[in-house]
Amino acid sequence: MPAQHSQHDRSRFDRPEDPFKALGNETRLEILRALYERGQETGAVHEETLPYAELREAVGIEDKGNFNYHLRQLDGAFLESVDEADGGRSGYRLTFAGFEIAKVIDIDAWRSHDVCGPTKLPIGSDADDSPLTAVYEDSVVTVSHDGDPLYAHAVRPAGAADREMELEELLSVASTLWRHTVERILEGICPYCHATVERSLEVGDGPDRYWQYTFGGTCTECGPLGGSHVGVAVLSHPAVVSLFWEHGIDLADWQVWNVPFVTDDAVTVVDDEPTRLRIDVECNVDRLAVFVDDSVRVVDTERLE
Ligand SMILES: [Zn+2]
Repeated sequence: MPAQHSQHDRSRFDRPEDPFKALGNETRLEILRALYERGQETGAVHEETLPYAELREAVGIEDKGNFNYHLRQLDGAFLESVDEADGGRSGYRLTFAGFEIAKVIDIDAWRSHDVCGPTKLPIGSDADDSPLTAVYEDSVVTVSHDGDPLYAHAVRPAGAADREMELEELLSVASTLWRHTVERILEGICPYCHATVERSLEVGDGPDRYWQYTFGGTCTECGPLGGSHVGVAVLSHPAVVSLFWEHGIDLADWQVWNVPFVTDDAVTVVDDEPTRLRIDVECNVDRLAVFVDDSVRVVDTERLE
């Protein structure tokens, strides 16, 4: 779910200076790496402070003037100097931004890898008999129907390699990550920048739409974040979770594309202005009606006997 800056009215002028200017140099990356690795060794990842001389030695730069110049380019944004007076040793440590950059470099986030799949999933879609297909490509697991992507989430190459590129396992990881991402969107927190998210219910009847009842989230900072079927918005509601739990089923164990009420067949429009939907959730003989308002919030639930 990439952010779409072009559709957003945030001015280019209030963006911070290009961070790649400060980072586009091997010595500077080496400085971040040295601080990060020392933190990994000692376990104090965010707090580890390296005295000036130790840091210069770790980076392997003899020329003090040259080293100081590179240090200054990073100081403030990616690392900070610490005084003995603040408690602890004086020296340099990573800021949160510096840690994030060093972490991405360390996990080799752009490592290339083979494509995994596509493969047919052992479930039919709700619209017809054509199966859903899954593929892992360009670090993203995508589940599609007839070429239309329904679910997509990145799984970092290191995580994929660790699971030996087994698509079955990658699907399980992607489903969990996807759920957590959507949960943050539904709770109003942008998964990328942590700014606030506005949600909206979208009811459409276009023949191109695989689902008619969907929701979307838009971040106030980074724009549209995507969304999903409205059934997903009730996945973690306590009434829904407990209905399944009473039958010994932990809904979180199911990959999202297998959840039976994530389908238009489970949705009924009960009110028009403002829109109010009912989602029918069933487990064995037990039935639950979940009512959702136009801001995609659960406003009522009703057990049906
Ligand atoms: Zn955002």
